Parts: sequence; C-alpha cells; structure tokens
Amino acid sequence: KSGFISIVGRPNVGKSTLLNRIIGHKISIVTNKAQTTRNNIRGILTKEDYQLIFVDTPGIHTSKNQIDRFMNSSAMRSMKDVDVILFMAPADETIGKNDLFILNQLSKKTDVKKILVISKADTLSKEKLFLKATEWNTYEQIFDEIIITSSTENINIEKLIETIVEFL
Ligand code: GDP
Ligand code: MG
Repeated sequence: KSGFISIVGRPNVGKSTLLNRIIGHKISIVTNKAQTTRNNIRGILTKEDYQLIFVDTPGIHTSKNQIDRFMNSSAMRSMKDVDVILFMAPADETIGKNDLFILNQLSKKTDVKKILVISKADTLSKEKLFLKATEWNTYEQIFDEIIITSSTENINIEKLIETIVEFL
C-alpha cells in the first residue's frame, strides 16, 4: 500500500510537529528536493507493508496569511492528487471562522479520505477533552474519522498512522 497525504490547517496548530513525530529526522533529507508534479514531498514513511508520502504546496504551510492563500486556487492544489487529507485543529481552541473556508472546501471533496486531527490533547484535562468532543462531533459528516492526538506526548499517533493506512 502506498499513498499521498496532505496536512492542512491554520499556522501553529502543530502540523510540522506531527510530521516530525511521524517521520522523525528523515524529513530534512527529503525536504526541498524530491518533487511530485504538483506538490513538494515533505517526508516519506516507509514500512514493510506500506509507504506514506506526506506532501504540501510550497509556502502554503508557512505563510502568516495562510487563510488568504487558501482563497486562491493554487493553494487548493495541496489538497489535490492526494489520497488522505489531515485537517488539524488544536484541542485548546475552538474550530472557528478561520477554519470555515477550509472546512467548506473539504466538505466538497468526496474523492478523498478526510481525517479531523485534534492536536495538542495534552493541553486539556480528560474532562475538558470530553466536553469539547461534542463540538468536534458536529463536523462528523465532513470527516471519515476524528482522532484526538498529542505529538509531544505521543498520544494516538500510531492510531492515526493505522487509520491512514486503512484508508489507502
Ligand atoms: P504548524 O505551524 O502547524 O506547523 O505548527 P508547529 O508544528 O510549528 O507547532 C506550533 C506550536 O505548537 C509549537 O510551539 C509546538 O511545540 C506546539 N505543539 C505542537 N504539537 C503539540 C502537542 O502535541 N502538544 C503541545 N502541548 N504543543 C504542541
Ligand atoms: Mg509548520
């Protein structure tokens, strides 16, 4: 099994940290070198049974005005030609206005698997996480799966990888 995966979301939600957790040091080897036709390869996870290729469009995840960039069509390319999209939002923030444009675009995409990745789970108590879960469940219809993670505490990262592989 092999597939392309794109991680999208506002700046500071933890995209790079997740990628580093998944790929580790290998990311620096491939960054800025390998390229697919449309997307930069940010990292590749190769195991015996599968290969996950994480991609993005140059600039899109580093821009301060990321939402503005999503508005132009070139930005949407990072969500094209991929098998799985991870949409990231941190546990300690509300999914809000800034996320709506991306969510709206995602809801139109039926040819790709979409995972809502709630990041930074370690910043909230179990009780608070439980309460917030109701909020995230309202997005259930857009996504194929919702996974609550922490990259720094290594919570549900393996589960996330397993889910991506299942979707390929
Ligand atoms: P990006 O802009 O989406 O790529 O976000 P980064 O990966 O650069 O992370 C932004 C900030 O959030 C950094 O200070 C990270 O250390 C922090 N961060 C990322 N993941 C986690 C997490 O799982 N838990 C906590 N507590 N902080 C995190
Ligand atoms: Mg980043």
